[in-house]
Amino acid sequence: MTIKEIVIISGKGGTGKTTLTASLVPYLENIVIADCDVDAPDLHILLDPEIRSRENFVGLKKAVVDLSACTHCMACVDSCKFDAISDSIIINGMKCEGCGVCEYVCPSEAIAMKDTVVGTVFHADTTYGPMVHARLIPGEETSGKLVSLVRNEAKKEAEIKGLGTILIDGSPGIGCNVISSITGAEKVIIVTEPTMSGLHDLSRVFDITDRFSGKVFVVINKFNLSREMSIKIEQESKKRGSEVLLKIPFDKRMVKAITDKKIPSLAEKELFSEAGFEEFVKRIT
Ligand code: SF4
Ligand code: SF4
Repeated sequence: MTIKEIVIISGKGGTGKTTLTASLVPYLENIVIADCDVDAPDLHILLDPEIRSRENFVGLKKAVVDLSACTHCMACVDSCKFDAISDSIIINGMKCEGCGVCEYVCPSEAIAMKDTVVGTVFHADTTYGPMVHARLIPGEETSGKLVSLVRNEAKKEAEIKGLGTILIDGSPGIGCNVISSITGAEKVIIVTEPTMSGLHDLSRVFDITDRFSGKVFVVINKFNLSREMSIKIEQESKKRGSEVLLKIPFDKRMVKAITDKKIPSLAEKELFSEAGFEEFVKRIT
């Protein structure tokens, strides 16, 4: 069975990526929903899923010290290139890069490298289909790996339940977790805003998607805040072989729907219809 992945990304957080993902959910059939924005997941706030299971996500091994075996020789403090061990031999987990040097130099075998839990993966059910989402502990840095795990778990859900589409709320920005979000996907939708920084971010995201084999489309959120910049975004999209498929207006009703934790395309159906949302859905599916 072929499973199609549609990924929504943006050059930075807060551009309307999750608003668009949540708005698409009720319009698609036979879907699994995946939230790959593991650093700041908030799709669940609008979809209100019922958690079925949760598992720990284990990142890199980190150093753990047994102070009862420590002779305070300071060899580990002097050897740690990341300044992760204090003079009182307390290891700062946020600074530890898991290199294992301290374990190697410790003459008392007081240090061991141990698995550390850096996040949680959730399997859940929404009104519209199963959902996989995750949360990385703030400050931890294995988000690319966690993004891949969320996508794989979503694929397993789709295979087991015979669902043909995975809708992914991707990671924002241009880092490795964005690449993990879009690699192998059929369609990528970039959400941007009509500002100079929106245009700049869009161009940087295109630099990534240029190496990507699937189709890439653009959505301008709050397009009416600057029609001039919206035109520039349309021109840039065309230049990069893409196309602006949807322009969502800035409207206080949208803000209210989100504040009320409602799916915007359901709460403000007319507004979305006027923007051509149904046609947009047809083009991306
Ligand atoms: S594992 Fe490496 S980074 Fe972590 S505390 Fe030991 S020496 Fe420092
Ligand atoms: S190297 Fe081992 S014994 Fe020496 S201070 Fe570090 S933990 Fe303690």
